Amino acid sequence: MALVELRNVSKIYRLGDEEIRALDDVTLDIEEGEFISIIGPSGSGKSTLMHILGCLDSPTKGTIKLDGLMIQDASARQLATIRNRKLGFVFQFFNLLPKLNVVQNVELPMIYSGIPGKERRLRAMAALEAVDLANRARHRPSQLSGGQQQRAAIARALVNNPRLIFADEPTGNLDSHTGDAILSLFRKLSQQGRTIVLVTHDPEIAAVTPRRIEIRDGRIAVKVDMALAGLARQAAPTSQAAAPA
Ligand code: ADP
Ligand code: MG
Repeated sequence: MALVELRNVSKIYRLGDEEIRALDDVTLDIEEGEFISIIGPSGSGKSTLMHILGCLDSPTKGTIKLDGLMIQDASARQLATIRNRKLGFVFQFFNLLPKLNVVQNVELPMIYSGIPGKERRLRAMAALEAVDLANRARHRPSQLSGGQQQRAAIARALVNNPRLIFADEPTGNLDSHTGDAILSLFRKLSQQGRTIVLVTHDPEIAAVTPRRIEIRDGRIAVKVDMALAGLARQAAPTSQAAAPA
C-alpha cells in the first residue's frame, strides 16, 4: 500500500456557466520515503493537486487514500485533524505569526494536538536544532532573514513528526543562494527518511528530486519515474515477441 493513493481525481470549479477542470482524472501513488516534485506552468493545477493531497480541499470526483484512510468523504473538522497529525506544510511566504517568537511559532501545531507545555518546548527546540536555528528561538520572525524564517517554518512543519511534508514554492521568495540552502535542507530531510512533495514552476528546482510529476491543463503529462522507465524498457521486447506475426 502506498502512503498516498489518488484515483481518478477531478476538481471542477464552476464560475457561473463556465466549468474549469483544474484537475482532470489524475491517478497517482506516493510511496513512503519519496522525494518528489510537482512541476508545471502557472494555472496548470499544481496548487489544486497539492491542496487535495494535503487535505486542504476535497475532489469533485475520485478518491484519495492517505496512510490507509479514505479521506474524500471526510468532514472539514476531520480533515483539519488529519492535517495536524499527519501532514506538514511549508509555504512561499513562510506564514509565521509575527507576534509570536520563533519557538512559539514552532510550538503551534502541538498546541492544536494537545501536547503539554513542557514537552512542546522540548520538541520545538529539537526541531529548531534540526534546522540549525536553535540560537534564534527567542527572536521574532521580523528579526530574521528570509532563509531563517523559512527554516523556522520547516521546523514547524516537522514538529508533529508528519507522515508527509508539502512545500509550495518554498524558495520562491528567497535569493538563489539562500534558496539552494533550503533545497539542501529538504534533501537532508529526505535522506533522513522524510516523505516530501515539492511544488514548483522551476525545472532547476524540480531537478533536485529523484521523481518529478509534470502537470499540464490539470492532467499528468510526463512521469519521470526511473523505476517505471526501467520496467518499460525491460517489458518492450517481451511484448513484441508475444505479438502475433
Ligand atoms: P497552479 O498552482 O499550477 O498555478 P492552480 O491549481 O492554482 O494552478 O489552478 C488551476 C486552474 O484552476 C486555473 O485555471 C485556475 O484559474 C483555476 N482555479 C484555481 N482555484 C480556483 C477557484 N477557487 N475557483 C475557480 N477557479 C480556480
Ligand atoms: Mg499555484
